[in-house]
Amino acid sequence: MSGVLYIVTTPIGNLGDFSPRGQQTLSSVDLIVAEDTRHSRNLLNYFGIDKPLFSLHEHNEVNRIDSLIQRLLQGDSVAQISDAGTPLINDPGYLLARRAREEGIEITAIPGPSAPVVALSLSGLPVNRFSFEGFIPSRAVAREQFLQQLAAETRTLIFFESPRRVVESLQAMRSCFGPERRVSVARELTKIHESVHTAPLCELIEWMESDSNNRRGEFVLVVEGAQEEDKDDSEAYRIVEIIARELAPRKAAAVAAEITGVRKNKLYRSLVE
Ligand code: SAM
Repeated sequence: MSGVLYIVTTPIGNLGDFSPRGQQTLSSVDLIVAEDTRHSRNLLNYFGIDKPLFSLHEHNEVNRIDSLIQRLLQGDSVAQISDAGTPLINDPGYLLARRAREEGIEITAIPGPSAPVVALSLSGLPVNRFSFEGFIPSRAVAREQFLQQLAAETRTLIFFESPRRVVESLQAMRSCFGPERRVSVARELTKIHESVHTAPLCELIEWMESDSNNRRGEFVLVVEGAQEEDKDDSEAYRIVEIIARELAPRKAAAVAAEITGVRKNKLYRSLVE
């Protein structure tokens, strides 16, 4: 009989969120696979769990999977955890879970918090359809292209972003999605300084810049989807920005309005804001 692979979610900040079933599972398995063993050892010590830890991260994942699968096939039970939240969600574990399925090994989850879902539930933005987009590219050109491709997406969008680039990313969103698009900045979720602020991009950037505390910690950005009637506006915002390199804002807005059919005032506001 092969063992079981458990995908165990750990807290994203507040240790009170670690489920009794998660703790009990980690106490009972033969081996725990972790992203950063030193980080996870602290968590296990806090909960009085003493089990062998095996490291699995993006740089060694491919090489280590065979030995983990062998142990599972020999009957050992294995728990996969990551530094925080749900493993596999922008964290290691996918390749192991896929191989376990292929080998017919039983795999089950001990669920718990995941930052994108927590941020979505607090955002006040539509939750009926959403798309999780992971980390925003860090380089300006790649970021612009990435956001531009999503400008007409009508589902709510969820992104991870680092505190170092969060303002730059909001500025890039303003130029790709327009200043009126509502965005929720979820910071330090479940921790002492948790804050969630939802506003149109034109106001949100000012708010972020007004206090350095607003730019500290871990972030999830939740972005309202494009409205059906706004679907073509992102292209218009791009066009008006190009024309404004040569013409004054009012003139540029008038020319872009004629080309795109989007209201002149809307384009003018996108330029000046
Ligand atoms: N697997 C994790 C999960 O399920 O939440 C996500 C891992 S991803 C590598 C880490 C990113 O998630 C951080 O850079 C940040 O963008 C976001 N994140 C994690 N914890 C957070 C928290 N407490 N508050 C806000 N964002 C958080």
